[in-house]
Amino acid sequence: MSKMLQVKNPATGELVQEVRINTEEEILETLKKGDAAFKDWSKVNAHERSRLLKKWANHIQEHKAEIAKVMTMESGKPINESLGEVDYATSYIDWYAEEAKRIYGRTIPANTESKRIVVTRQPVGLVAAITPWNFPAAMMTRKAAPALAAGCSFIVKPAEDTPLTTIRLVEIAHEAGIPEDVVQCVNGYGSEIGELFTNSDYVRKITFTGSTPVGKHLIKNSADTVKHVSMELGGHAPLIIAEDADLHFAVQQTMSSKFRNAGQTCICANRVLVHENVAKEFSDRLVEEVAKLKVGDGLDKQTQVGPVINERGFEKVVSQIDDATKKGAEVLCGNQFDGNREAGYFFIYPTVLGNVSEDMKMMQEETFGPVVPITTFKDIGEAVQIANSTPYGLAAYFFTNDYRTGSYLHENLDFGIVGWNDGAPSAAHAPFGGMKESGLGREGGIEGIEPYLETKYLSVGGL
Ligand code: ADP
Repeated sequence: MSKMLQVKNPATGELVQEVRINTEEEILETLKKGDAAFKDWSKVNAHERSRLLKKWANHIQEHKAEIAKVMTMESGKPINESLGEVDYATSYIDWYAEEAKRIYGRTIPANTESKRIVVTRQPVGLVAAITPWNFPAAMMTRKAAPALAAGCSFIVKPAEDTPLTTIRLVEIAHEAGIPEDVVQCVNGYGSEIGELFTNSDYVRKITFTGSTPVGKHLIKNSADTVKHVSMELGGHAPLIIAEDADLHFAVQQTMSSKFRNAGQTCICANRVLVHENVAKEFSDRLVEEVAKLKVGDGLDKQTQVGPVINERGFEKVVSQIDDATKKGAEVLCGNQFDGNREAGYFFIYPTVLGNVSEDMKMMQEETFGPVVPITTFKDIGEAVQIANSTPYGLAAYFFTNDYRTGSYLHENLDFGIVGWNDGAPSAAHAPFGGMKESGLGREGGIEGIEPYLETKYLSVGGL
């Protein structure tokens, strides 16, 4: 009997659908087919690849409501956010459909009259992607779109909790005319499929979004066959409120950075650092807004904060809040939970903690939940020191209307994405990615197609 993944709704515990786990033989066959498909797809001209990508994007938009509903049911994400994610996921396909036509080479003046030097770009080959559950559509398309645009074939393994959105996106790609073996999806456990991907000679590139320990493991395992790797790993974003910040605006942006997807995004503000002279006013204003958030089942249009993804995620957030309060954090609002392991639902009410110090777990580790820990600083140099005191370097935010403070923060924060008076910086046309242990490579923008291309240098002599 074949084994199944049970996809459950984290708002209700109900079974949404069962998904068959692929056998090892099936996955090896998929890899072989993906490699064979690469040979043909890489020869399809860029304008045709672009046309098919645009068709895929249009078909996704035609099925927007259906995809969003599935996403909400498997991930718990509020339906309005799921609809927004379908648009966001589509925007990567639109962007790279255009970039497909702009994969330029160059010529270099030679140092002799008898030579010509030409540089061309070629696709790297079969790409294997492993994606997380927090953005089941966008994390797939921001890998698949540049890969296909570059002329690579593509295999994705979605997260065990949320395979349904990805399965549907792959079906729609086929309905739009992208050949079946050019985009494939396999299902099963990350640790098992990850080994098959990294051990395979067919796979020329691994692209991954997920936790830092798994990313490190994949980098190590890719070494034997010297695969290309792109890694979008954990974050621990600081959000800094300078003394001169517009507090009303800063509160609004903090809300949008922190509570999207119940705080389960890798660029979520994880630590809020406020200048001591405005900390009380900022906290009061924030708590007033946070207390209004409506928590519930994501299918209810009024819901602003859904459940967290599963029991493991729930336990992690609860234990971080527990650790903080034991070490002296003050509960300004929230610290309430509605989780039931047997029934299978996991709600954490939006929580704001004051008097937070660096020895607390949530100031050292990613939280992935709707919790705002607030700490204070005396001067901007201290804020930078606290912000950078982490192995992570994905996103950082700051709020100031003083250009000198802003320039200083921009230049001294060791993070790949910096939001200056902006709590929502992600966009298909901009390079997303981290420094330090938050990752390797960038996704989005003109940078996002580079990791799927090889450079070939041709030297013609004897002219
Ligand atoms: P999280 O803890 O947020 O679930 P993970 O890094 O564990 O983050 O999961 C992200 C993706 O990585 C998922 O698709 C998961 O199946 C996959 N994964 C988990 N463990 C491994 C592994 N050892 N090798 C490859 N992929 C893995």
